[in-house]
Amino acid sequence: MDKKQLIYEGKGKKLYKTSDENLLIAEFKDDLTAFNAQKKSSEVGKGSLNCQISSLIFKLLNQNGIDNHFVKQLDENNMLCRVVKIIPLEVVVRNVATGSLTKRLGIKDGTKLPFSLVEFYYKDDALGDPIINDEHCKIMGILDNDDDIKYIKDVARKVNTILIDFFDTKNVRLIDFKIEFGIDSNNKIILADEISPDSCRLWDKESNKKMDKDIFRENLGSVVDAYQEILNRIK
Ligand code: UDP
Repeated sequence: MDKKQLIYEGKGKKLYKTSDENLLIAEFKDDLTAFNAQKKSSEVGKGSLNCQISSLIFKLLNQNGIDNHFVKQLDENNMLCRVVKIIPLEVVVRNVATGSLTKRLGIKDGTKLPFSLVEFYYKDDALGDPIINDEHCKIMGILDNDDDIKYIKDVARKVNTILIDFFDTKNVRLIDFKIEFGIDSNNKIILADEISPDSCRLWDKESNKKMDKDIFRENLGSVVDAYQEILNRIK
């Protein structure tokens, strides 16, 4: 399957048309961005690691009944996906308080939450991806009805349960993650985008050492070394 024209370039991926109008190719970039792209860098090999990790996770989720856009990994940097219309929502699931949750509410960093928290952020760089609730979603037409909102929250919780158990067997704690959904050609909501150490917080089970994009956010060392360690553990 060959790349045709570039249809979109985001912070972490380029999307290309293919000869099949229902399929696109996502090319994972080496670029790193944080804090709404105010901090930027790049590490050779990061894109390839994210493509491989994301492919493994989407495959695992497919095997566990979570419908998603992943078709197959084409090579180290490229993934074949079903075309979807992305819903402008960042769905964040948190098991442990850290990052923006601790800043917003003053909860002590590292506190295990009594239950998994699902949050919605409106995907809009100009507004700085503000946190929103179910009613904002409906008022803004991001999601039309309560059933779709419930469906997305249910899928997010299922993904969380599957990934907590999976990473646990690899001696990794799943702290939190962000997922995105899209609408496919049958008008069905499915999981899309990527699931990688760029979009998850992953801590070593023994030492609580960070193995995710916080290494870049907080200048803690080599992102590629940590992502390679995640890939080695999960493959
Ligand atoms: N996240 C992401 N993209 C974003 C914002 C957050 O992938 O634009 C992920 C982030 O890596 C973490 C989770 O969502 O795993 C929760 O992030 P948080 O709200 O704590 O934001 P941050 O501290 O990164 O500002």
